[in-house]
Amino acid sequence: MHAALPRITVIIPTYRRTDALRACLRSLTKLDYPRESFDVVVVDDGGDLPALDIKAEFQAPLNLSVLTQENAGPGAARNTAARAARGDYLAFIDDDCMAEVDWLKVHASAIAAHPHSLLGGRSRNHLADNVYSAASQHLIDCLYEYFACHESPAFFFATNNLVVPRQQFLELQGFDGELMRFASEDREFCARWSGRGQDMRFIPEAMVSHAHALTLRSFWEQHYAYGRGAYRLRLARLRRGQGPLRIEPVWFFINLFLYPLKRARGFAIVRLALLMLLTHVANLGGFLAEASAQGTAGRGSMGGSARLGAGDITMIPPPLSARIYQGLRRFVSHARLMPAVTAYEKAANWMRYGDPKFPRSIGIEVTTHCNRACSYCPQSVDKLQARHIDWEVYRLILERVSEMRWSGSLDFHFYNEPLLEENLESLVGMARATCPRVLPRIFTNGDLLTEKRLRSLAAAGVINFNVTRHPPYNEEWDRRMGSLAARYPHCLQWTCIEDWPLSNRAGLVKPRRVASLKAGCYMTSYSLPIDIDGRYLFCCCDYYRQHVLGNVREHGLVEAWNNPTYRAARLQVNAGNPSIDICRSCFGVNGGSRRNGAPLED
Ligand code: SF4
Ligand code: SF4
Repeated sequence: MHAALPRITVIIPTYRRTDALRACLRSLTKLDYPRESFDVVVVDDGGDLPALDIKAEFQAPLNLSVLTQENAGPGAARNTAARAARGDYLAFIDDDCMAEVDWLKVHASAIAAHPHSLLGGRSRNHLADNVYSAASQHLIDCLYEYFACHESPAFFFATNNLVVPRQQFLELQGFDGELMRFASEDREFCARWSGRGQDMRFIPEAMVSHAHALTLRSFWEQHYAYGRGAYRLRLARLRRGQGPLRIEPVWFFINLFLYPLKRARGFAIVRLALLMLLTHVANLGGFLAEASAQGTAGRGSMGGSARLGAGDITMIPPPLSARIYQGLRRFVSHARLMPAVTAYEKAANWMRYGDPKFPRSIGIEVTTHCNRACSYCPQSVDKLQARHIDWEVYRLILERVSEMRWSGSLDFHFYNEPLLEENLESLVGMARATCPRVLPRIFTNGDLLTEKRLRSLAAAGVINFNVTRHPPYNEEWDRRMGSLAARYPHCLQWTCIEDWPLSNRAGLVKPRRVASLKAGCYMTSYSLPIDIDGRYLFCCCDYYRQHVLGNVREHGLVEAWNNPTYRAARLQVNAGNPSIDICRSCFGVNGGSRRNGAPLED
């Protein structure tokens, strides 16, 4: 027994390629790695493998196990084998690959130096006469070469030569089920691996020969499937709150076309360059086809409908409460529905969290930018520098919301114009995908709200557009909003700011009609604002973020909400007895933090 060598289980998924599998297994019998330090698991993915024959032939030299499963794709087969594996490390190889004699020995040396890393070996094309196989291999070589020199989150290793510590693989729950059919599970797994800050190492000396015979048709199908997988991968990333895929710089694409110059001569250069171009066309075609299929699947019965409502174009079905709300909105105005909605939300909060006053709305400051500077808004007295929320902060906010299965309105508003955030659709999509009970709403001044934008946001998951008409008024705005409100009555309503008495925003401004707060203020009990840096704020009037309840990096929603200092302040202001400076300023009581506003005339 070689005590110093790691114990490795070699995993081979197979589907109707018995001859290729035999060649693969034969190559493993020649490995210069001690037999007692590795075993082999073959998983027949619902094919026609003559398991008894294969076992009889290879069990003794390879310590072979053969498992079978219903056809579910190679990724699922690899997961099946990983669960049954006895080794501390898993070495994945495909049934159409043949390992070099020193394959495991080289990987074992790398394991000794980097025991917790994901290791990717190199492959070479075994079918030199097949131009399509050669082109596919060129593409992989080019990608590996590029990623090895550039730090990119898209860095990945193909599953035909991959070694991973078994425990870490199982902790990550193996390959993703949704991507398995599209041959993108390797990219997705590597993204999850590196997303946890875990190391990935390219081991070019660990070599396998790849004998995948391709025709023009199967070449196209392979890269078309990669394109479909890329779209699925994009959705999976959004669902996990990892943000969209990064687009590589232009140089990356130029390099793909120039790569054949380094590797081929004469006419072969042209042929390879054309096939590289074809891979991009197939990829793009697959990506767009999958995007269209996903969109159509989510649209339900939109076929034949000349006029769509937001309900028809929602990709992720909204929760039942939202569907009931949207159904009722066809007959009853938003304002009339609000008391019933509030009563329902209070009862739900009481049952779920034991506190009817738990916030029914969370406001996220996705940007600090606003295109206006209304006289009754602090943006007019101290304009904020335009910033956009960091993906990591946003992911943490959603994690906090999802960990307590909070339901309520998710608003993307805090003294800003959310439509200025160009990633708003992605942010909404992430929220709906990771927190299915939230109801995304947009509070907007409407300046940038076109029908196209409304539809794309509704498709991402927005259930309601709350538009405010601010002076100076103009006819174009009124016409556009009137038309949108008529066309989408169950998800859009607009009101005029001058119809409402306003808060003086903790004394920062002096609106013409100031709301009387003497009977108590419930603003802080309704909504929990989270600012662009992930800070929970006491009230949406706290423009300068003076009263912070906690931070999403350290505190969950309940913990922040129950911050003892602010819990007491909340109860006091509810009772009309403001105790902290911003509330006192709102009430016009001396000693508040009024900065720019003139004294109030109540
Ligand atoms: S549009 Fe809204 S956020 Fe912008 S300045 Fe006016 S009140 Fe403030
Ligand atoms: S009184 Fe306090 S809680 Fe009410 S709006 Fe003003 S700052 Fe917010």
